[in-house]
Amino acid sequence: MSTTTIGTTTPDTTTPDTTTPDTTTPDTTTVGRNSKALGDPGHGDAFTDHLVTTRWTADTGWQPLSLGPLRELSLHPATIGLHYGQSVFEGLKAFVQQDGSVAVFRPRLNAARFARSAARLAMPELPEEAFLSAIDLLVRADARWLTDNPRHALYLRPVMFGSEANLMLRESHEYTFLLMAFLAGGFFGDTVEPLTVMVGRDHARAMPGGTGDVKCAANYGPTLLAQRRAREAGCQQVVWLDPVERRWVEEMGGMNLFFVIDGEVVTPELSGNLLPGVTRDSLLTLAVREGYAVREGRISIDDWREGCRTGAITETFACGTAAVVTPVGRVRDTEGDFTVGTGAEGAVTSRLRTALVDVQHGRAPGQPGWLHRIS
Ligand SMILES: *Cc1c(COP(=O)(O)O)cnc(C)c1O
Repeated sequence: MSTTTIGTTTPDTTTPDTTTPDTTTPDTTTVGRNSKALGDPGHGDAFTDHLVTTRWTADTGWQPLSLGPLRELSLHPATIGLHYGQSVFEGLKAFVQQDGSVAVFRPRLNAARFARSAARLAMPELPEEAFLSAIDLLVRADARWLTDNPRHALYLRPVMFGSEANLMLRESHEYTFLLMAFLAGGFFGDTVEPLTVMVGRDHARAMPGGTGDVKCAANYGPTLLAQRRAREAGCQQVVWLDPVERRWVEEMGGMNLFFVIDGEVVTPELSGNLLPGVTRDSLLTLAVREGYAVREGRISIDDWREGCRTGAITETFACGTAAVVTPVGRVRDTEGDFTVGTGAEGAVTSRLRTALVDVQHGRAPGQPGWLHRIS
C-alpha cells in the first residue's frame, strides 16, 4: 500500500467554479443528463453534475482526489479493464434526513467491500479514508439534487478499473477510480408491486472459488442473457441457484433474498457464492429489533415451492441498496410455478422496509455509526 496522502482535493484546472451553488434548473449540457431527471428519475440515468477521480500507479500510489464536472473519459483502446474485466464497483445511497441534512448509509461497509473486491482481482485497495473522502466531496457538491421527496435518494457509484494500455494477460500497473452519482427513485417504479421471478436453471451466477462474494464487473455481464430470457417470459428477475447441486436458492438478480418461514425471518447463509449485502446485514439486525426470530440457513428450491404450498412460507422478498425491500409474489420454474403467500406484499416485508427506510432517513435510530453525515 502506498504512503501517498489522499483525501485532499486538488483543483481540476478544467473545472468551472463549483463553489457557487447553482440554484437554477440543472443544466442540460452535462454528459448523460436525462430529461426524466426531475419527477420520477427512474433508476440509473439521472446523473448529477460532478465526478470524483483519482489514479494509482506503481510509482506514485494513490494520487489526491479530484472533484470536477461529470465528463466523458478518454481511454486507450488497449485499456486492460475493458479487455480482461479487471474492474470493481460499489453502490450506496445518500438520503435527506428529517432535519434537512444529508447522510450516507453505512459507507464504511462499502469501503471495506470495495477493498476486498479489489484485492480479489489483484488490484490495489483504495484506503477506507479515501473512499469516504470521495463520498464527502461528491455528495457535498451534488446534494442539491436531493429533494425532500422521501422516495428519492442519491445513488453513489464508485468504480475502479485497470487503466493501463497493455494487452498482456496480467494485472494492470495503473488504475483509475471514479465516483459518480445519479438521482434514484424507486428501483421497480414508484409503487412496490410484488415481482414475478424466474428460477434460473440454465445459467449459474457464481461458482466455488470464483468471485460471487465480491462486486466485480465480470459477475454481471454473464447474467444478462438469463435476465433477458426471464423478461421475455414475463418475469422481472432471475433467481440464482447454487452452481454445484443446482438446488439451494442463493440470490435474485443483484439482490439478496429473505423468506418468512413459520414466522421466522430466514436468509440464505453466505456460502461464498453470495454477495454479502449491506442491506441484508442491516435487515438481519433490524428484524431482531422488530422482535422476529432470525436465521441464516439453506433453502432449496423444493423447500420454497413446498413451503408455499403448505403455507409454511408466507413471504419472500429481495433486498439491496437499489431495490430496498421488494416482495416476490410469483415464481416461474420449469418444475412448476407457484405463488408466495397470497401473491401480495406481506406484513413482515412491509414492516422491515419501513424500519429500514426510517433508519436511512434518520426518522428512527439505527445502530451507532450507520449514518455518515455530510457536513
Ligand atoms: C450489490 C449486490 C447485492 C446487494 O448488496 P447491497 O450492499 O445490499 O446493495 C446483492 N447481490 C448482488 C449480486 C449484488 O451485486
